[in-house]
Amino acid sequence: MKAAVTRYIAQNGVRVYTLPIEVFPHFWGNAYVLVGNGVATLIDAGSGLGNSNEHLLAGWAELQSTWGERLALADLTRIIITHAHIDHFGGVQMLRQHTQAPITMHPLDRRVLTNFENRLLMAAKSLHLFLQRAGVDPAEQQRLMQMYLWNKDQFHALPVEATVEDGTLIDGLLEVIHTPGHCPGQICLRMDEVLFSADHILARTSPHLAPETITPNTGLEAYNRGLRAIKRLQGIELTLGGHEQPITNLAERIAALYASHQRKLDQILTLLKMAPRTVAELTALIHPRVQGYDVLLAVEQVGAHVEYLYLRGYIRPINIDAESDERMSALQYAVF
Ligand SMILES: [Zn+2]
Ligand SMILES: [Zn+2]
Repeated sequence: MKAAVTRYIAQNGVRVYTLPIEVFPHFWGNAYVLVGNGVATLIDAGSGLGNSNEHLLAGWAELQSTWGERLALADLTRIIITHAHIDHFGGVQMLRQHTQAPITMHPLDRRVLTNFENRLLMAAKSLHLFLQRAGVDPAEQQRLMQMYLWNKDQFHALPVEATVEDGTLIDGLLEVIHTPGHCPGQICLRMDEVLFSADHILARTSPHLAPETITPNTGLEAYNRGLRAIKRLQGIELTLGGHEQPITNLAERIAALYASHQRKLDQILTLLKMAPRTVAELTALIHPRVQGYDVLLAVEQVGAHVEYLYLRGYIRPINIDAESDERMSALQYAVF
């Protein structure tokens, strides 16, 4: 059951609405509508899949029926996409039939929308190479690749009208903070005491990370840089994520996210001290019960942690020499 649209009135008078949307079956996201100070801005658009468009439109109707906003979709002045994951941008296809508001996002994520099919195939090649090096068995590789490509027909490329960089002030209201890691071009948006934290910082979940070898500007190194950028902000009282509930103690949440990654890094180091292992072997030990799409997420996440430890010189691959075709063979890691 879709939850009701809620409202927060910001200190600058902008009315901030949270629209809950079922973006995948039983998986919910938030879109935000900002009205006032001369703008009508939508932040994120749902997935465009399943109930998502219906929930977005029902939320929009509630702005009028429950909250008395006189606002048609055609009145939107801007659509900001926080990052190019389908649960945040898929709905723009439907919205394009109702509004000409410029789609606005970071240039490092733009190609996902403007070059959707081709970009997905490029990413799939890198993913396949990662799975080979990770030591995932070939039949499982095929299964995971098919799952990865499931959404290749779910979206068709469309233009992005505006791009914003770290430090850009959008419409005199929203300051852009580039926070890669979870997605290369992910942005958080600050409006005085309010932070829209996208999937960078969520109330309960530690955001999924994949290794930088699959897509540059993802991974734990980049993610931690983004956490430090948010930690430096002063005066944030309310943090609104792309999923889950609002966060009122941002510093505590950031500390918990650091700690959760540190625990996972320590666990990997402990396992590698016992014996050299591949990413697939580590994944089987750390996440023995995952199934379906979660297998792919788990092997990517462990891959991101292994990559971080390797980049920082804690571990090294031991079965690599000048003659081996390392593109095809699984890398076994050990602690120095
Ligand atoms: Zn995401
Ligand atoms: Zn998301």
